[in-house]
Amino acid sequence: MLPRAKKQFGQHFLTDQHYIDRIITVISPQTTDVMIEIGPGPGALTAPLVERLAHLHAVEIDRDLAAALRARFSPEKLSLYETDVLAFDFAALKSRFRCVGNLPYNISTPFLFHLGEFADELIDATFMLQKEVVDRMVAGPGTPDYGRLSVMLQYRFAMTRLFVVPPSAFTPPPKVDSAIVRMVPLPANRPAADDSTRFAAMVTAGFGQRRKTLGNTLKPFVSAAQISACDIDPARRAETLSVAEFIRLSNCKA
Ligand code: SAM
Repeated sequence: MLPRAKKQFGQHFLTDQHYIDRIITVISPQTTDVMIEIGPGPGALTAPLVERLAHLHAVEIDRDLAAALRARFSPEKLSLYETDVLAFDFAALKSRFRCVGNLPYNISTPFLFHLGEFADELIDATFMLQKEVVDRMVAGPGTPDYGRLSVMLQYRFAMTRLFVVPPSAFTPPPKVDSAIVRMVPLPANRPAADDSTRFAAMVTAGFGQRRKTLGNTLKPFVSAAQISACDIDPARRAETLSVAEFIRLSNCKA
């Protein structure tokens, strides 16, 4: 029997075997993979992963669910970290790792930013998220979904939306569609900002007032003349800039 879902932990449990099978197929776990699952809950994905892997790591905040997982899977098969994943130090895995999970939707954006800090150690990630969030992650410039999340994640990851999962696949059903996204860190020789803090601040400023021109929103960082010198029209808006153009602007100094 499924445990009662707790709203504060964003609990919607996957119960449709068809989608569980499809997710496991796209994850394609290999016996010796070092893999960590975020929010295993009652174990819809955990059980088939444990079956296929020599060992699985998992982070679960809900102590009732964690106790049930401990009772079901031996510590030889499952290392369970009973903590908030936003505070979890992925470096503790001491290895490059794969990451999977049906994420709690209330923390999805802060979690993606947190995981980004460990991108050098990440092999790949396969997540279920609200479809609306996945659409924003993969959106290109000039489209309505394109924003800070798109630029900050595309700066670091290649991302693909794999398939949509309807509310009926969960108990209780969420109000919105979900989607599976695959994230693969870009190679070390990717285009990069000289100063990643400045880059992030400029992206935030640019999208903070999406309707204003770059000449206006980026004033604290670069003058209109400097923007023009980067071959970018200062009358453009952030939502039209590619990730490469954001990098160029961020690297442009007085
Ligand atoms: N994987 C299960 C499934 O597919 O049925 C559960 C998915 S449910 C959408 C999200 C899970 O993440 C829940 O088990 C919830 O308790 C857990 N969770 C919520 N917030 C968390 C946090 N901050 N850190 C770690 N786990 C969290």
